[in-house]
Amino acid sequence: MEIRENVPLAPLTSFQIGGSAQYFVEVSDEAGIREALGWAREHDAPFFVIAGGSNNLMPDAGLAGLVIRVTGEKFQFTESGLEAQSGCNLLTLIREAAKQGKGGWEKLAGIPGTIGGAVRGNAGAFGPEIKDFVTWVRAINTKTEEVHEFSNVECAFDYRMSFFKKNPEWIILDVHLSLGTSEPHLIDETIAEREKRHIQNVKAAGSFFMNPVAPQRIVNMFEEEKGVKSRGGRVPAGWLIEKAGMKGAKLGGAQVSPQQANYIINANNATAEDVRELAAKVKEEVRRQFDVALVEEAVVL
Ligand SMILES: Cc1cc2nc3c(=O)[nH]c(=O)nc-3n(C[C@H](O)[C@H](O)[C@H](O)COP(=O)(O)OP(=O)(O)OC[C@H]3O[C@@H](n4cnc5c(N)ncnc54)[C@H](O)[C@@H]3O)c2cc1C
Repeated sequence: MEIRENVPLAPLTSFQIGGSAQYFVEVSDEAGIREALGWAREHDAPFFVIAGGSNNLMPDAGLAGLVIRVTGEKFQFTESGLEAQSGCNLLTLIREAAKQGKGGWEKLAGIPGTIGGAVRGNAGAFGPEIKDFVTWVRAINTKTEEVHEFSNVECAFDYRMSFFKKNPEWIILDVHLSLGTSEPHLIDETIAEREKRHIQNVKAAGSFFMNPVAPQRIVNMFEEEKGVKSRGGRVPAGWLIEKAGMKGAKLGGAQVSPQQANYIINANNATAEDVRELAAKVKEEVRRQFDVALVEEAVVL
């Protein structure tokens, strides 16, 4: 295990923002994670887990403690699907599965980051979510070092939510997915659609806020205006942000994306402080105008 010091975090994130990790280690498997946890304990250092870095805003001052980057990229096909280490890139898995004729999850293509990150946040796009494909998840409890295999039900998936998001003391080690038949053409079509909607290849962390549950009058307004039914009383955060007049708003180098109002982008050498302040302004306007509290989907450290 190689512990490095003063490792810049910005290049490891899609936002490209943030200072350095005081200590940094890459681990690919359970043994590596146990070793890193032991090191953090011995040095009385707090630790932070990152993987693909696509849903994170790192602080300008960096992180004091040990950043553990989960990198395991081994996967194998099973009779019913696919078993993968949590550090596997999601798009790589979708493409590799398609080569084996396995799929059903092509609409998740283009969501950046790892399968572990996707399970932790129940990532989804255009309808499907990762929960629709997960059979079991093996994870380690960083406090007790117990390893447990969680069934899909035990993962307690919900909209951008899971047991692991609520209980960050667990690190996901491996994931097993049940897949159906592949429709390979959907992979590039989905990515092209994402590019058209400006939700791909941008310096951001994806949707910055979760779609909130809104008061009935706001839900009615949304349904009338858009001609679509709200799902579970939620309305798109981007729709609210645009209605609040914040689309395109700038603060320092950060900007509410002019194309996709729920994205805060690093438009011009933004600092984490720029992003945080802009996000606070967005929240304030949405609360003032619609009485809705936006909650961050991105992990703001
Ligand atoms: C351009 C862009 C588009 C995006 N589009 C979408 C989209 O369409 N749908 C969507 O749902 N999301 C989207 N996202 C957000 C992001 O891609 C997902 O949340 C992704 O699943 C995060 O995975 P990651 O590996 O990058 O996680 P990271 O950003 O590295 O980590 C995110 C959180 O997960 C935790 N974590 C990571 N790995 C593990 C693990 N193995 N065990 C336990 N905890 C772990 C970290 O501690 C951190 O708290 C987008 C992001 C970007 C930049």
